[in-house]
Amino acid sequence: MTVIDPDHIPEFPHTQGEVPFYREKGQAHPRAVKGLFRDLKWWAMALTLAWWHLAPFLRWDRGPGAPDQAILVDMAGRRAYFFDIEIWPQEVYYLTGILAFAAITLFLMSALAGRVWCGFLCWQTVYTDLFQNVERWVLGDRTSRLRHGREAMSAGKAIKQGVVYATWFVISAACGIGFVLWFGDAFEMLRDIFTGQAGGATYLIILVIGGFCFLLAGFARERVCVYMCPYSRFQAAMFDEHSLIVSYEGWRGEPRAPAPKSGDFSGRGHCVDCKMCIASCPTGIDIRFGNQLACIGCGLCIDACDKVMERFGLPKGLISYDSAANLEARTKGAAEPGFRLLRARTLVYGAVLAIIGAVMLTALLNRATTEVNVLHERAPLFVQLSDGTVRNGYTYKILNMVREDRSYTLTLEGLPGATLEMVGGPAGVTAIDLPVEGDQVGTFRLFVNSPESALKSRSTDVTFVLTEKGGHGNLLRNHSLFAGPGN
Ligand code: SF4
Ligand code: SF4
Repeated sequence: MTVIDPDHIPEFPHTQGEVPFYREKGQAHPRAVKGLFRDLKWWAMALTLAWWHLAPFLRWDRGPGAPDQAILVDMAGRRAYFFDIEIWPQEVYYLTGILAFAAITLFLMSALAGRVWCGFLCWQTVYTDLFQNVERWVLGDRTSRLRHGREAMSAGKAIKQGVVYATWFVISAACGIGFVLWFGDAFEMLRDIFTGQAGGATYLIILVIGGFCFLLAGFARERVCVYMCPYSRFQAAMFDEHSLIVSYEGWRGEPRAPAPKSGDFSGRGHCVDCKMCIASCPTGIDIRFGNQLACIGCGLCIDACDKVMERFGLPKGLISYDSAANLEARTKGAAEPGFRLLRARTLVYGAVLAIIGAVMLTALLNRATTEVNVLHERAPLFVQLSDGTVRNGYTYKILNMVREDRSYTLTLEGLPGATLEMVGGPAGVTAIDLPVEGDQVGTFRLFVNSPESALKSRSTDVTFVLTEKGGHGNLLRNHSLFAGPGN
């Protein structure tokens, strides 16, 4: 949708009437603005950074011997904890569910409110905003920063730049440390990191994450959004005419002209061509060219323009955060359809979210506390003993996913006359006891022995039946094969 009359575009000096893909060179030095969207960005920054840095310090009592960190990815222990939920490596499908849920949530968020993720919540946006504000606090606002950039090197310039880099360094180090705290006991890791007792891998990860933070938020900045981030490329596919986007109301702003001394705006547009919207944009673009890939939807140009409109006694909203359908209706002087929450796209996303959520919740509520892996040994497939008995070997693993020790009984079905034998244990039994400690994997190597006469073919289906002692009936039935010479 184009809302700007192309005849009015050539006033933008460096484009000769063409919509620029991106600032040709240099970095954006956004001007400070005040307003609703700036306040929202402060809140988003505070909440995301608080979550990133403080969540690992939340405690959750799981009983003796278990980590008491509420959210923990325990790489060494091969577990992930989220409050009362404990995920084993074998249950990685929960991670798939969480990722799918997050992706669809992002789609729904985009369909409803445009690039709120990009403008307010994304790691790159939050840290770039923080770094730019550090520059602003040390070097001053846009004009001072531009002057600082042009100045020849001097002691004063070096000191100021040093303060900026040192502050960025501290923030980046905190970012890297914040990352590793999700993977171990936060209190212990923090102590180890600052006393030099953490492992080399920990310091390396802090260096890599902190280094990326320093480079991406300090120097690459908006280039990450425009050139590197895949989401910015395809997010427009999630929009429709009712998605909220940041737009310049060309029908009202054009023809633009410098502010009239008389204060009379009749016969002209409301845009005074002050370029405050460009100066305050963190990606340095001119929203008056229409919706662009480089627009992260932060709304800072709205705050900037609203102040200009206020100054001239004009209605706010020359740059608006509204749907394309409403904007088009205003452009034509027609009735606005308003904001439509329920539409095909949002209903589909909502339904998919509900299904994923329901499946995950059901899986969690019915989560098995014992899992078994049976591996039939293949080299050799079978051995024939001197008395004609055929023997197959198996590795039988029991995952006891509760904290208490448990004892199980294993039997076999499907092969009449067959007996079990644990390696190192008594032979010729039909049931064997398998104790497994709480929260551990029990690995057992066992043989199944069968008289050759019981085998009707080269391969016979068998079922291992696991029962928990003191439990209620069969716990798990696992199918496998028994190989023999065949007739
Ligand atoms: S801030 Fe508003 S008035 Fe100024 S150039 Fe941008 S759109 Fe026009
Ligand atoms: S054009 Fe406006 S909404 Fe888009 S990135 Fe720039 S300031 Fe943010």
